[in-house]
Amino acid sequence: MTHTLDPDLRSALAERVRYCHEMGIYDFYRRESQFSQLTEAVVSASAIDSAFQSELREEMAARKSAVASTVVEDKVFAIVSSQPEHGVADPVAALKLIREDLGDCTRCKLHKQGRKQIVFGVGNPRAALMFVGEGPGADEDTQGEPFVGRAGQLLNNMIKAMGLRREDVYIANIVKCRPPGNRQPERDECETCSPFLMRQIATVKPKALVALGATAAKNLLAINAPMSELRGRWYDFKPAGSDPSWEGARLAVTYHPAFLLRDPRQKGEAWKDLQMVMKYLGIVPPKKAIE
Ligand code: URA
Repeated sequence: MTHTLDPDLRSALAERVRYCHEMGIYDFYRRESQFSQLTEAVVSASAIDSAFQSELREEMAARKSAVASTVVEDKVFAIVSSQPEHGVADPVAALKLIREDLGDCTRCKLHKQGRKQIVFGVGNPRAALMFVGEGPGADEDTQGEPFVGRAGQLLNNMIKAMGLRREDVYIANIVKCRPPGNRQPERDECETCSPFLMRQIATVKPKALVALGATAAKNLLAINAPMSELRGRWYDFKPAGSDPSWEGARLAVTYHPAFLLRDPRQKGEAWKDLQMVMKYLGIVPPKKAIE
């Protein structure tokens, strides 16, 4: 059925849907009853949703003179799942397909800012627990594995304190290439890279996800809040388009190990966060806290 849609709205929607698609968001639900509510298209289980909607409204307001897009709105909603790992039951094979799809990535500027290699992710492809950091540092860039430097040693201690081994969990980052000088990854870099992380999460299907530090938390949750507000609670997390039979992960936020190296007094607080995760995962807390 073809509707007449305001060209500005249509153009803004088309652009937004394309953007969502690049972000790895494939499922949209359209309210049938009132066409005017198209701007309320709901992105399945995505915390990014409300931020997108308000951005969309802003975009539309700013686009009074935009050239009408030729995209037909029915096509806008015909989102095809083109991810090669879709339907691949074996997570090892699925992760391999995601890695192949990433290729020798040149999608953002980090590829030409001195990265040695892409740092994809490491660990148990069926892990119940997944950690997400910010981005590779110098050691990770050299070795091609996340969290292998000093912060990585502390993360290993945190994992050990939980009664787990590094091989039991899956570890990845918001961006897969080292930002120069260890600066924080920029918004466009995170947005370009995060669809691949979403696909890794949707493949591993962890029960619990731990965001290490504010950059990871803010990017995963699309919430701009201080650590004091982000920590100490659970968030439901399920990448859009992921297996409907997977209930999704619970996401907790804790301090980044690099921050804990700078301020070891906060280890006790981080330990509280990890204890919350252990309780949820049914892990009997060992006697030792983080060393
Ligand atoms: N810091 C991160 O956020 N990730 C790494 O892989 C290493 C350090």
